Amino acid sequence: MDYFDLNMNLTSEDIALREAASKFAKEVMRPISVQIDQMTPEEAFGPESPYWDFMRQAYQLGYHKLAFPEEVGGPGLNPLQIQIVMEELAWGSFGLTLNLNTTFDAAVAMAGSQEHVKEFTLPYCQCTDASYLGCWAITEPDHGSDTAAVGHPSFRDPNIPAQCRARLDGDDYVINGQKAAWVSNGPLANHILLMCQVDASKGHAGGGMFIFDLDRPGISKGKPLSKLGIRDLCQGEVYFDNVRVPKENMIVGPDIYEPTLQAFICLTLPTVGTWATGLARAAFDETLLYARQRVQGGKPLIEHPNVQQKIFDMFRKIEASRQLCRSVLVYNYSHPFNPEKESSSMPWQPRPLRPRLLSKLQVMRFRFLAGMGFPENMWWRSSFEMPVQLWYVMDPMTLSL
Ligand SMILES: Cc1cc2nc3c(=O)[nH]c(=O)nc-3n(C[C@H](O)[C@H](O)[C@H](O)COP(=O)(O)OP(=O)(O)OC[C@H]3O[C@@H](n4cnc5c(N)ncnc54)[C@H](O)[C@@H]3O)c2cc1C
Repeated sequence: MDYFDLNMNLTSEDIALREAASKFAKEVMRPISVQIDQMTPEEAFGPESPYWDFMRQAYQLGYHKLAFPEEVGGPGLNPLQIQIVMEELAWGSFGLTLNLNTTFDAAVAMAGSQEHVKEFTLPYCQCTDASYLGCWAITEPDHGSDTAAVGHPSFRDPNIPAQCRARLDGDDYVINGQKAAWVSNGPLANHILLMCQVDASKGHAGGGMFIFDLDRPGISKGKPLSKLGIRDLCQGEVYFDNVRVPKENMIVGPDIYEPTLQAFICLTLPTVGTWATGLARAAFDETLLYARQRVQGGKPLIEHPNVQQKIFDMFRKIEASRQLCRSVLVYNYSHPFNPEKESSSMPWQPRPLRPRLLSKLQVMRFRFLAGMGFPENMWWRSSFEMPVQLWYVMDPMTLSL
């Protein structure tokens, strides 16, 4: 099923990239994702798992470094092309796409020194066997929205205690505490972008961004989390017990942590929205197929006008999500900014639409697909994971809707 693109201005290069990603999504990602969906988390991410076949093939094709520039070994895609390819991969599997795109230490290293680029960015971009795998840890067991509520008074409240902290000791930071079970790639990763508290007097706003390898003494990890959907995304805790990290590995300190975090969120949210659009498309395709096959009242469901209306409504919402995420992603990627100068002029964030889109689609689907599907269909189960858990971060944008 080809979910069509209303954008008539795509170049032949854009279309070729989309077709290549679509083929990979269909032939490699889908079958492996379905296989993993039926496995226990231990099997799914064990050494014999097909998960590693996927990762190796994806790395060989360069799908792990889509947003990296050519200078460091990336493909040098423009922002629109990044969006197109990401959405297509997420149609194949939201979880596997996220696994591939959470090695943020390699990206954030580009804001550091030449040594950081050599140590983190270049090896990641040169990697073809998935042996360099990173994670990003910000969420804590008792702090989800709290950790990312940039601009909200609670973000600067020193009375809300963080559960992971770094303190300077000589030439090192010493890190203690833990990050939550939601850390994508946490149990598998060998590198990390850690966002944790450095200056408690500023609350969560007094954070720092650290990049380092996870082989250091004092680091341990949780088991892969078992979930209702997105079961092919490996998630688990990371624990720190007096972990020493050279002070140079703190790329962003408390002085500019808040605007830098907002900048980071401005780049990641339209990307996650793009993946959610791909997942919504996958669920839409399943729905359309079912409506064509299931006969009630003497004809396929699709021939009933009320069903047509509901399916069109789903299409309308997915298309709105795609266009919003596409424009915001292109805008935000095209306007790299200096957090020190531009903290008050953030591009807007498509955060609220995504959970709302998926919730709306689920409600519509249940209205006419009745008893079939939910326990059976992994695309629908996975779309539940998104609004239930992810990015219900409280901010003025969210509240205004
Ligand atoms: C698929 C997936 C991948 C993820 N990957 C990562 C990752 O790689 N790294 C990582 O660190 N984390 C990751 N997360 C965690 C994610 O960042 C958190 O789920 C998110 O920050 C929300 O936090 P929470 O789940 O603790 O919800 P909570 O913050 O507990 O929110 C629960 C509810 O309360 C509402 N709420 C919260 N605060 C307020 C308030 N002050 N006022 C009013 N309402 C409020 C929220 O809107 C929400 O509806 C991932 C999550 C998912 C689902």
